[in-house]
Amino acid sequence: MQFNARYPSLNPKLFHHQAPKPLIGAKAGHFNAELANQLNWSDEDKVQWVEICSGQKIFEEFEPLAMVYAGHQFGQWAGQLGDGRGLLIAQILDKNQKTIDLHLKGAGLTPYSRMGDGRAVLRSVIREYLAGHALNALGVPSSNAVGFTTSTQGVQREKLELGAMMLRTSDSHIRLGHFEWINQYQPDLLKEFTQKCIEWHYSECLDTEQPILAFATKVIQNTAIMISHWQLIGFAHGVMNTDNLNITGSTLDFGPYGFLERFRPNWINNHSDHQGRYTYQQQPSIGHWNLWMWLNNLVPLCPENIEKEIWKEQLAQCLEHFEPTFLEHYQQGLKQKMGLPSFHKDSFDCAMAFLRILQTEQLDYTQNFIRLQNKEYELIKDDCLDHRQFESFLAQYENIRKHQDTDELDQIMRASNPHYILRNHMAQKAIELAERNDFSEVERLFKLLSHPFQKQPELEKPEDLAPLPSDQPEIMVSCSS
Ligand code: AMP
Ligand code: MG
Repeated sequence: MQFNARYPSLNPKLFHHQAPKPLIGAKAGHFNAELANQLNWSDEDKVQWVEICSGQKIFEEFEPLAMVYAGHQFGQWAGQLGDGRGLLIAQILDKNQKTIDLHLKGAGLTPYSRMGDGRAVLRSVIREYLAGHALNALGVPSSNAVGFTTSTQGVQREKLELGAMMLRTSDSHIRLGHFEWINQYQPDLLKEFTQKCIEWHYSECLDTEQPILAFATKVIQNTAIMISHWQLIGFAHGVMNTDNLNITGSTLDFGPYGFLERFRPNWINNHSDHQGRYTYQQQPSIGHWNLWMWLNNLVPLCPENIEKEIWKEQLAQCLEHFEPTFLEHYQQGLKQKMGLPSFHKDSFDCAMAFLRILQTEQLDYTQNFIRLQNKEYELIKDDCLDHRQFESFLAQYENIRKHQDTDELDQIMRASNPHYILRNHMAQKAIELAERNDFSEVERLFKLLSHPFQKQPELEKPEDLAPLPSDQPEIMVSCSS
């Protein structure tokens, strides 16, 4: 590994050095060899992956640390948070010379653990491991993980579960909440911290007239693009608190996430989200709200030659990029999923008509885009109660495509519609087996989700392609992790 230990160069008030505390009976869960290669892991590191991913081996080049941050949780100021169970154990260069954080989740107590035990359970580790892998393969900017380990140590949640650790990778673990903490508790650090964020993550902004405004605009645009990806793929993050959003716009800390199955935009996947703040359909507006809260923290960085009120206005103008960026990416992506030409004036309307059918008929989002792609129109229609609504959509759809190069549109469709997402019941099956020390289903899903846009008949099971029948009880995803 080639180290680039840059976070420890920040003011020490921003973190606490802390060694991981290994679990009893740590043992292999799953290893992502391809990612380890991408991160230039040596053969020796690969042989020792269980030790590294269970906190037994730490690196001389990097003293592990827990980061402090703050946040707004479910819309309320939550004060100081900080990583209560995750340690930054290295920053390394990948094959493209990009700096990547190695972050060990479930590594024991830190000064920021509050009431928690510093641990993660196997159930939530498998969910995050497979979802991070799936999102990356789907082309959604996201954290990922090199591997996870399990143990024989019991960890108490609603019931006693197995403790586990996961070695997460991300281009950053700097959250919007980092700025909130600094602004609230150590405002003297704000200027230098912001400067470092720009140098590390947005160096192209350094040469602009107002680097801070350019930086803010980029963070806003990247977040909008990330959320457009989520909407297109049918992903609901579940806990979009400001401490769970990264400044790079890569998906982070998705605990009780869900991949949408039947198209219910107001579906609540996180059962502690009583008011439905973080439903699928709310994600764009919550992203906007989080960024608005975040921008307040840049107000003190007003340059001397600019009046405060004007500076505030300029910051507010940065946020005006959110909606057009989101809409541009979302609309373009939706047209691609539909195989409709981007320039045609009726393409977006037609796509919305399809979504309305999915919603009123409670059809599966992923499965029915694939049926559309395969021109299995009868299968969609058979699942509809209102055949006329579908026929009228289909007439419009075929009419728009009539005079187009459909070969090219179909090719774009195939690259935009996954056959496989991580349905809750798929993850659940893998977890139940893994809790009995059988990781074969984790391995199968890992392989299947590596190539979500390719049909893999030799690997897939019928239940990977559809939601559970509607008369079966939905799997309740516990938000404890
Ligand atoms: P989350 O909602 O999982 O992002 O967690 C919110 C905050 O609580 C973060 O600062 C976490 O590090 C912390 N936290 C969550 N679970 C635990 C735990 N079991 N032990 C200690 N801290 C935790
Ligand atoms: Mg978090």
